[in-house]
Amino acid sequence: MRLAERMSRLGTETAFEVLAEVTKLRREGKDIISFSIGEPDFDTPKNIKQAAIRAIEEGYTHYGPSAGLPEAREAIARYVEKTRGVPVSPENVVITPGAKPIIFFTILALVDQGDEVLYPNPGFPIYESMIRFVGAKPVPLPLLEEKEFSFDPEDLKKRVSSRTKLVILNSPQNPTGGVIPKESLALVAELSQKYGFFVLSDEVYSRLVYEGEFESILPFDPEMERTIIMDGHSKTYAMTGWRLGYGVMKKELAEQIAKLMTNSNSCTCTFTQIAGIEALEGPQDEAEKMKEEFRKRRDAIVDGLNSIPGIRCLRPKGAFYVFPNVTEVCKKKGFADSKELQNYLLYKAHVAVLGRTCFGERNEGEEEEYIRLSYATSLEDIQKGLERIRKALEG
Ligand code: PLP
Repeated sequence: MRLAERMSRLGTETAFEVLAEVTKLRREGKDIISFSIGEPDFDTPKNIKQAAIRAIEEGYTHYGPSAGLPEAREAIARYVEKTRGVPVSPENVVITPGAKPIIFFTILALVDQGDEVLYPNPGFPIYESMIRFVGAKPVPLPLLEEKEFSFDPEDLKKRVSSRTKLVILNSPQNPTGGVIPKESLALVAELSQKYGFFVLSDEVYSRLVYEGEFESILPFDPEMERTIIMDGHSKTYAMTGWRLGYGVMKKELAEQIAKLMTNSNSCTCTFTQIAGIEALEGPQDEAEKMKEEFRKRRDAIVDGLNSIPGIRCLRPKGAFYVFPNVTEVCKKKGFADSKELQNYLLYKAHVAVLGRTCFGERNEGEEEEYIRLSYATSLEDIQKGLERIRKALEG
């Protein structure tokens, strides 16, 4: 089969490959503890499920407008206005099946072949994949342990120029749990004005911030001249399988993104959108409970990892991931990189983690090794998994 040339540039999310391996091992009867999956282990809150059932019964089972149902766009506009503190109108909102398509559509709509796009590294692998797919030049922006996994402002300044078309930010971040400080957001906004590039701010973990308040870049560009934010229901309301997300941007761009929706999905599932309104505007106590549970787990996993010789782990401010430094462990065991440690832990300790290699290539001069553990799993499994890791690394 001869595929189109562009397919050779398309990457993937290796997390799904590890997930497939975990499923296979479990089917063979192995007891695997998985820290690999990036989704809440909680059930979707009941009020949201009931809203969806009601919506189906009321006939929300047909096509809707490509940009989203008017009432759902209105609810999202109100929510984003409240949480980001800038005026948002429904015309700024495009609803998509999950937040992920906003990455694809924004890049398709704005980036030409040869344009430069900055993206966080280590980072969510879909950014680089999409940048390469459209024939643009990916420019990694290193996230540094010494900056609590934000970037060094000097690194940003060195990398942007008139060739930069788009800068992708993600805060709180996957895979590190890092949060970008407000001053750095201000700098990105200032440079975007100076050079005229767009900013795509991936804020899907905006409700999972454990220290201080969530800071968006949107207030630094309240007219949305150059800023697109993306958020969604997957992580906040444990709705990953529902496929509901959105982008917020200036009206002229929203119209173009809606056209990409018409050409691809037609529309986002309509009863899911109705349930999404209940999620945003109904009681928030379930979402808050999940967040508090994540905070407890974060503390347990950070303390546990730091008690294992050779592992050093920061206490991340957001999301549900930790990104411990495992350089010493790799050295001691003779592993060439974090991928070898990932395999060793999976097959020897029956614990699934993801190596740093799943989140982009090493940055220039980067010599440390890291792994990602998702703590979207029970406290009991966290304790069991950590004990297994400790034992496997002892000998
Ligand atoms: N952005 C980041 C940083 C993520 O980690 C994920 C999911 O893992 C997504 C986007 C995709 O979210 P959704 O399920 O809403 O498409």
